[in-house]
Amino acid sequence: MKCPQCKSEMESRIFDIGYGIKVNSLHCRKCKFNITENKRLKNAMSALRQRMSKDVKVVRIGTGLGIRFPNDIVKSYDLKKGEALTIKPEADGMKLVASR
Ligand SMILES: [Zn+2]
Repeated sequence: MKCPQCKSEMESRIFDIGYGIKVNSLHCRKCKFNITENKRLKNAMSALRQRMSKDVKVVRIGTGLGIRFPNDIVKSYDLKKGEALTIKPEADGMKLVASR
């Protein structure tokens, strides 16, 4: 397939998005344009979500409540002590987003 931007020949590449999940895509060496099938990316993201989901308990911290992040979550999201996170409402619960 030819690159839609610069018309060079595109090469097939496999991207490792982590946790052993790989996504096929087409890559242009010349202009770095990248095409990843939406369906494949969606499947990969849902596999990643399943593999990454963790059960945590709400614990008492001082006079309030908190949750402890498992170490592999701390590492993979590079969380730091004192870092600000935003809680966003979702249809089935909430989402934590780093404010960096
Ligand atoms: Zn190109």
